[in-house]
Amino acid sequence: MSKREHVDVAIIGAGIAGSALATALTNSGFSVHLIDRSDKPLDTARGDHIQPAMAPILSRWGIWESLLSAGGEKRFGTRWFDASHEHIVTIPVPEHQDCAPWFLFLNHEDIGRVLLERAMDNGAQCTLGAKRWSFKRAKTCWHLSWESLQGAKEISCTMLVGADGTGSSVRSRLDIDIQRHRYQYPIAVLYGRQRTVPTKRTLDVHLTQDRMLSLIPRTGGGTKIGFPIAAEELPLWRDAPESHLHEQLREWCPTLDFETVAFGAIYPPVSQQSKAYEGEGAAVLIGDARHAMHPARSMGMNTCFRVADQLAGMINELSSGFSEQQVLPILRQFDREFAKNLAPILADNHASGLQMDTISGDGFTDLTGQLRAASSRVEVMDAMGLKAAGLLA
Ligand SMILES: Cc1cc2nc3c(=O)[nH]c(=O)nc-3n(C[C@H](O)[C@H](O)[C@H](O)COP(=O)(O)OP(=O)(O)OC[C@H]3O[C@@H](n4cnc5c(N)ncnc54)[C@H](O)[C@@H]3O)c2cc1C
Repeated sequence: MSKREHVDVAIIGAGIAGSALATALTNSGFSVHLIDRSDKPLDTARGDHIQPAMAPILSRWGIWESLLSAGGEKRFGTRWFDASHEHIVTIPVPEHQDCAPWFLFLNHEDIGRVLLERAMDNGAQCTLGAKRWSFKRAKTCWHLSWESLQGAKEISCTMLVGADGTGSSVRSRLDIDIQRHRYQYPIAVLYGRQRTVPTKRTLDVHLTQDRMLSLIPRTGGGTKIGFPIAAEELPLWRDAPESHLHEQLREWCPTLDFETVAFGAIYPPVSQQSKAYEGEGAAVLIGDARHAMHPARSMGMNTCFRVADQLAGMINELSSGFSEQQVLPILRQFDREFAKNLAPILADNHASGLQMDTISGDGFTDLTGQLRAASSRVEVMDAMGLKAAGLLA
């Protein structure tokens, strides 16, 4: 029987989190195998805005320029509008040595492709379309096996990473506990093209009478529109003719002028955090498998970058060929720091998620008032800018 190939790290899930970690680890010479059950491009509606504070990390990984070459565009701040459609405030991107002077936006699948290509150029192996994968403990390592179009394969790895998203199967197979808050209202995503697209693009949030409507720039002049809906409205949005989508958007916000609008997707938002793995062997969860967030405020994918960088930085103390005994204390340390660093990000995201989680019809008077008050206070505006850029938790 042929000998199993051994890698330092096997990562289940080749989304943003898995590919980001693979990029960071292979940049430092570790051997990595990524395994994903899907062979389709990543879901385009998901995270597409990279915070300015991620520029140093992504530059270090050698992909910042690649993201721009792949069509990445620049966004300059976030504008807020009240229920009368008046501009309240623009949260600027801070001028700061540790970040880019803009958000970089690019469709989700293109961000994933750039990361994965970089990891594979560095020598990572990747199996997409892996079915019936399984893992089991062996002495001081894990054994993994799966089937794919390339046939059946078995490998062993020293460290196992679960990066398989919110419904993580690695998490359930490792019997890891989770804390979860399900928001009441699903988020609908539409894709549109506005008649007028400014050259300096911004993300615009409209606090209409009963919905928070986010207009998120997409490359090539497109716009992603996100807002909460009641579960019973679901067929209405999914199956409605385009004219109805236009009418509904105009009813909420008459200042919006879309040339085309199409239904995109519906997401049930959750805030969840997995506990650390405490069983036998070296295993860890990252990305949404570890810390899924509400899509409000563009934090989930950016946190994937942050956490992948933190974990890879700690593993960098070792060299390729490390043993389970060497990596175990590093994973424990990572879990402690993770919990400490992530708590404020999760709390902030959850507060934003709750703010958006309404269709009650009583408006956003408090939030409008807070934003209006903040607009005249330079230090508050600066802090809000730093936070949005990812420089303050
Ligand atoms: C509408 C929306 C908008 C968002 N906007 C932003 C934003 O602007 N900025 C931001 O920072 N974040 C945003 N997010 C959050 C962001 O998209 C996620 O946090 C991020 O994509 C998580 O990446 P991940 O790799 O952890 O998980 P996923 O993207 O879910 O990837 C998981 C991967 O694992 C694979 N997989 C799943 N199950 C298995 C299995 N059993 N076996 C093998 N493989 C498996 C999947 O095929 C997939 O490739 C948004 C999310 C949504 C829903």
